[in-house]
This record gives sequence, C-alpha cells and structure tokens, in this order.
Amino acid sequence: MHFKTLAESFDKIEHVSSRLAMTDLLADLFKKSKADEIARIVYLCQGKLAPAFKDIEVGMGESYVEEGIAKASGYSKADVDKEFKKRGDLGLVAQEFFSKKKQRSLFSSELSIGKVFKNLIKIATVSGSGSQQLKIKLLAELLNSASPIEAKYLVRIPLGNLRLGIGDPTIMDSFAKNLSEEARKNKALVKGVEKKLKEKKEEKREAELEKKIRLKVRELIESKYNVYSDLGGLAEKLAEKGLKGLEKIEITPGVPIRPTLAERLPTAKEIVEKLGRCAVEAKYDGFRLAIHKDKGKVTIFSRRQENVTDMFPEITDAVRKQIKAVDAIFEGEALVFNEETEEYFPFQVTIQRKRKYDIDKMAKEFPLTLFAFDLLYANGKSLMNLPFKKRRERLGKMIGKGKTIELTESIETDKTEEVESFFNESVEKGLEGIIAKDLNAGYIAGARKFAWIKLKRSYKGELGDTVDTVILGFFKGKGKRTQFGLGGLLTGVYDEKEDKFKSLAKIGTGMTEEMLSDLHKMLSKIKEGKKPARIDSELKPDYWVEPKYVIEVNADEITRSPIHTAGKKKGEQGFALRFPRMIKIRQDKKAEQATTVKEIEAMFKRQKHVGLSE
Ligand code: AMP
Repeated sequence: MHFKTLAESFDKIEHVSSRLAMTDLLADLFKKSKADEIARIVYLCQGKLAPAFKDIEVGMGESYVEEGIAKASGYSKADVDKEFKKRGDLGLVAQEFFSKKKQRSLFSSELSIGKVFKNLIKIATVSGSGSQQLKIKLLAELLNSASPIEAKYLVRIPLGNLRLGIGDPTIMDSFAKNLSEEARKNKALVKGVEKKLKEKKEEKREAELEKKIRLKVRELIESKYNVYSDLGGLAEKLAEKGLKGLEKIEITPGVPIRPTLAERLPTAKEIVEKLGRCAVEAKYDGFRLAIHKDKGKVTIFSRRQENVTDMFPEITDAVRKQIKAVDAIFEGEALVFNEETEEYFPFQVTIQRKRKYDIDKMAKEFPLTLFAFDLLYANGKSLMNLPFKKRRERLGKMIGKGKTIELTESIETDKTEEVESFFNESVEKGLEGIIAKDLNAGYIAGARKFAWIKLKRSYKGELGDTVDTVILGFFKGKGKRTQFGLGGLLTGVYDEKEDKFKSLAKIGTGMTEEMLSDLHKMLSKIKEGKKPARIDSELKPDYWVEPKYVIEVNADEITRSPIHTAGKKKGEQGFALRFPRMIKIRQDKKAEQATTVKEIEAMFKRQKHVGLSE
C-alpha cells in the first residue's frame, strides 16, 4: 500500500467523531491492506512502530522535527517555529508548508509503507554522536517525497501522537466487522448464537443474528488480545487465516498478558458471603510485575506492559536461580522489604527503584523482594484455566530456595472473623489491606470478575478505596499558582463500552508545589488544540490534553452531579467526587486502566455500607 492511501484514511478518520463511522473507515482500510503490511498499519494506528512492549519509540523532539520540516520544505526553521506557536500542531504546519512548498525535490517518488517504516525504525534505533542529525535527515528524506497530507502524518508519528482518537477497542471492532461474513458461514458459531436469540419475528431475527455474531467475534478477538498484547501480530494472523487464525494465538513467554483486576467490597462479611471459602492474601504496595522466563531469557513487564527488565537486575538473577521451571509466566508484587526487621517499606521508597540510571547502586541499597501471587504458564503449558488453588500450589512448588522471590502471605478460610483479623494484622504491618481470591476461578486476563476482591484500610470521611482518574485537561493557575502555569486538573474515568473518557472531578488540592510544576511540564507536552475525540466532557478546561496520565485521588464520597459526564444517562445526572485530593501520579497505569464508570457506579451504590474501620 502507498503511504498516501494510509494518510488519506487517517485524514478521514480524524474528521469523524462517531465510533461507528471510525470503525467502518478502519474496516475498509484493513480490507485494503495486504497480510504482510497489516501489522504495521495497526501499530501506526496505535501511534507506534511495534507493540508497546517492544519499546520502540520514534521519539524526536519538536525542535528536531521542525528542522526536518524546514530542510524538506525550503522554509527556515524560524518560519516553521512561528507557525507552530500559532497552530500548536506541527502536523498541520507541515501540511500547510508542503502545499506551498518552496523547493521541488529532484528525487521525489511515491512513498510505500515499507519505506516509511524503514526510515522510522532507523530513526528510533540510531544512537550515539551525530544521531540527531541523522534522524533529521531520515525524516527530511521521507518528507521530500511526501504530499501535504502525507507530511501531516509523517510529522506526527515521531512526535508520538497521531491525534486520530482511535483506541484499541475500535480497532478490534473493525476486525470483527471484517470477519463477520466468514463467521456467518461457521456452523458451530452460528448455532451457539442462535440459541440466545430473543426476537420472534423472522425479519428482525436476521438483523439480531447479524449483530450477535459480530459481538461474538469481537469477544473472541478481545479474549485473545487479553492474553497476547500484540494487536498487530493478531491482525496479521486474522488476515492470513481468518477466524482460524484466532485459534493459533496462545499465551507466549515474552508477550505480555493483560492483568486480572480486583473488585472491591466494603466489609469482610460481604467478601465471605460472596466467595465462601477463599484464599486471603496480604495486599502489598509496590510494583506489580509479570515475570516471563523462557529458558535463560528473563523478561519483566510492568502493569502497563512496558518492558522493565533492566530496572530490576536482582529479580532477573533470582528468577534464574530460584525458578525451577524451564519456562514460566508468573506474577507478583515487588517492594523494598527488610528481612531482618520484617519491615515493609512504603511505596515512596519502592518507587525510587523505577529509574534508568544508578540501577546497580540502588539495587544494592534498596533491594526488592518479589511476593509472587499467581502462575499462568509453566513448562510449555498455559495454566490460565486451572483453578486458583491449583495454580498457587504449583507456584509454591516452583519457587526454590532464596531470599528475593517468595510467596505472598496467605490464609484459607470461610470465617469472617479470620478475614478481619488477617486484615488487621496486615494493616498493622504497614500493608495496604488484603486481597481475597476465589479458589476455583481461572486467571481472568484484563477483567474484573470477583475472582479477586480487595479490602483496603480506610479512614473516616474517605471512600472505601481511592479512584484512579485520567487527566483530561488543566486550568491555568490563579493567584499564587500563576507561577506554576497550572492551578487545577480536569479528570475523568474510562467508559469501556463507549471507549471514551468521561469527566468526574476537578482537582486542585493534594498537590505540592513540586508536583504542580512537574504536572505542568508533563501536560504541556501533550496539549491539544481542541477537545480530543475520546473525551466526553461538558466542562471546558483552559487546555485539553491527550488522555494519557493517570492520577490516584482520594475523596470523601461520590455524589450525583449535573456537570460531570461520568455515568450520565438520559434523564439522569452524572457522578462527581466530593472533596477530591490528589495522592500521586500512577505511572504504572495507562489511561485505559484507570477506574471505569462502571466501578464508580458500583462504589456509589455501596458507599452507604459501613466499612471495617468505622
Ligand atoms: P488496586 O491497584 O488497588 O486495584 O489493587 C490491585 C493491585 O494490588 C494489583 O494490581 C497488585 O499490583 C496489587 N497486589 C498487592 N498484593 C497483591 C496480592 N497478594 N495479590 C494480587 N495483587 C496484589
């Protein structure tokens, strides 16, 4: 495919706002793509060159991109910069400058996706002296052959934001659309769906069947994506083999799995009523790590599926020494723990281990202990469908002697009092609370289905749990805060159904002066000229930002609100946080991993209950 065809599709997508229209356009685009280029197109739609866990970022600063534009268009860098200050989007500046280009290139030729990728990968991987100049040259080389519309997207890719507003759920919708014709011919699938049809009238039944089939295919795709976080790789298999390709997708060491999530209940009593006899584990406050061992190769993924192997050398060593299986995927929470005093360090200490420099020094000073809590794969076999009790037993057997990796503290009980006293013990030790686990549940990737239930320590006048909100925009500071350029944040939660971020709270307290200026720096880089397509908010901040950063927030309660859109339905008000205060930035979460509208609704319903600490 020519890059121009892709750029034209992107342009159309950028100008529609309904998710349905976006899905149709994407489905058309994927239909037109060849099987061997589809993965790359998917990565580009995600604003990347490879699946996120491969850590290949084009990453060019604005100033270098400006130089690239100047070099290829014949305008000066000062001209480019001036226009950028006016428009706030270098993509638009490039599009404009290339439509009135001063110099015609002698060698301009049609750009293929292959060529674009080749240069971008080179830009992403060159390092050392002179690499910045080479990056500019490689970008300018592409721009030289570009039409205005191509220039717009070529420039946005290295800046890491295509501004298309496409989320993974919409990409998966479009795969499902393209597969639904094949699915109609799949007898087993159709039979399964037909059983659930409610419509009696023949003509309506047909439309219902069509819709249900597509939903079923969408579900299948998502269930695979949950255990194989490479949407491009998945698309390639679908393009090659259709629905059969899905069967080929298996949990694989080296490819991250979406983590299972914990539900909340406000009391030990309700936990026991819900789960009956269950495992109750201490809830540690550190980094959630997924460890992949593939013979001698160890890869560590964070909760947001970044490859963080290099940050934790003592864990990599311990996996080689302590883990007996040839290959394995297991999860645990890592934190700084002093074995002699049995002291768990607070998160503020552990967080210092998230760094790119002085790693060895810090690993000696603040070594981590990994408290392992689940096993998903061992010796060539997926264990995801095994009941938790069995997985934990196998995990215990797999961990050999050593100090760095141990099992989480845990009891098995069906008695409320025992859960309560274990909870109190954990809190006394400085831990966050407990997580109860369904002994019979399989590992539920990427979802929250009462297989895990958390109970956190809480204080009077607080919600039973904190809320993780996404920053949607910010307000200029007033009075003393003018100096920081930021006085408050507009934040929201994730609506999974609509794949949108909906407003929940304006937050102006809880930030130190240092936090305010850090936030201002971070957010200035992702400012948007207009409201991004995936944001749904009636409140207007001074600046919109790309929904990217998640912050943990505490509040007194959840209230009904006419001004926020989270949970807002026809004739009903939305939800808001009363007295919200920022606790910290949750670097371990992506925007889509923030608290969901559904959770807020559940927390709202439950908040009348009396918590343990009251
Ligand atoms: P939260 O982030 O508050 O929703 O709580 C869920 C998180 O608790 C998980 O993602 C883990 O990072 C962490 N955690 C701490 N201890 C455990 C444990 N024993 N089992 C599972 N998750 C745990």
